[in-house]
Amino acid sequence: MQVRITVSFPYEAPVSQSLFERASAVTPGGVNSPVRAFRAVGGTPRFMVSGAGPYLTDADGREYVDLVCSWGPMILGHSHPEVIAAVQEAVSRGTSFGTPGAGEVELAEEIVARIEPVEQVRLVSSGTEATMSAIRLARGFTGRPKVVKFAGCYHGHVDALLAAAGSGVATFGLPDTPGVTGAQAGDTIVLPYNDLEAVRAAFAAHPGEIACVITEASPGNMGVVPPLPGFNQGLKDICSDNGALYISDEVMTGFRVSKSGWYGIDGVRPDLMTFGKVMGGGFPAAAFGGRADVMAHLAPAGPVYQAGTLSGNPIATAAGVAQLRLLDDAAYEKVDAVSAELRALVTEALAKEGVAHRLQAAGNMFSVFFTGADVTNYDEAKTQESFRFTAFFHSMLAQGVYLPPSAFESWFVSTAHDTQAVERIAAALPAAARAAAEATE
Ligand code: PLP
Repeated sequence: MQVRITVSFPYEAPVSQSLFERASAVTPGGVNSPVRAFRAVGGTPRFMVSGAGPYLTDADGREYVDLVCSWGPMILGHSHPEVIAAVQEAVSRGTSFGTPGAGEVELAEEIVARIEPVEQVRLVSSGTEATMSAIRLARGFTGRPKVVKFAGCYHGHVDALLAAAGSGVATFGLPDTPGVTGAQAGDTIVLPYNDLEAVRAAFAAHPGEIACVITEASPGNMGVVPPLPGFNQGLKDICSDNGALYISDEVMTGFRVSKSGWYGIDGVRPDLMTFGKVMGGGFPAAAFGGRADVMAHLAPAGPVYQAGTLSGNPIATAAGVAQLRLLDDAAYEKVDAVSAELRALVTEALAKEGVAHRLQAAGNMFSVFFTGADVTNYDEAKTQESFRFTAFFHSMLAQGVYLPPSAFESWFVSTAHDTQAVERIAAALPAAARAAAEATE
């Protein structure tokens, strides 16, 4: 017998709804980062008031199992007692000094100790700042103007990197957004992901002009689309052969998919790397680093300017150091195991309802594409039946499971996702899979 889903949509969230109305009056779109507005899935964004372990509680008092984990950072779950204690201790000594401090040395040492290609590191406050600064440094170091990026890879809202339009070999980036001028995006070459031939062709077409190739170490911003075997090594080799820098953006994967991020999985040695999310323990801390000879070009050691009033903030660095020190091998084993268990449960539920899907993973990051074919690049990602995700998402939300509100985002788990949390997700999946099966465009 077919059981119809009982989730009524949009369902009630009166306090969140009223907060959203107030927010929309004073903030564009009612949010401070677009994906939070639920535009891809519709409905009322949930305003969260607290988090504990794998759970979030919204302003209407509803509890959710959280599979967003603040878009990656909360790898120990919410309100981890040791991270909170470190923050409380730091905040009791003051919030910002605008001078060097011991915390930033400790955080830099943690990063350098974990990631062998990082000989020197500079702390900043967001992943956007990290990629923006890494590109400036690459241009300053090589004296070349052009940057290669891949369609579907997100590196923050850096002007030059908000160019993902176009397809085909060596398509020059057209700005994706008003406010970015052709000049700002004109030195950006956007190529299809996982296509080394396109990269070779771009270097052949622009000899001596390309400063760097920047890529997500393993993309999570078009859904999870891992590099095909040899792709990252190929990028590194092409860069080395042509005097360009290979920049691996590990803002999402760094300290999440292993102790040393994606580098710990594929071992391809970048010239520069960028980090954020997990390294800040839920606070605004990010970094870029790499070869000492390249980093030596950064002010005040060298001529490439970069700075920040709150860079290396003592609260953020205390949270980051506390979180990183808790992330030992056992922690990653735990996160990997929870991720594998959830992937199996999601696959089982969707298969049972006959929903065409691909569950793609990169270490413990994963996402579901509602399509019958493997996804290796952005064009393929866009062919999925996103309307099925919308139905799936709202069914899960109604049953107390908080997924990323877009079909093109990674899901994240934490060491705090215990048996009880997994059981709650498992209990919600059959109805959500049914909703996906029954969904129409
Ligand atoms: N790089 C990657 C791979 C990201 O996933 C993100 C954010 O999601 C960024 C850069 C930008 O980081 P932030 O949002 O901290 O500016």
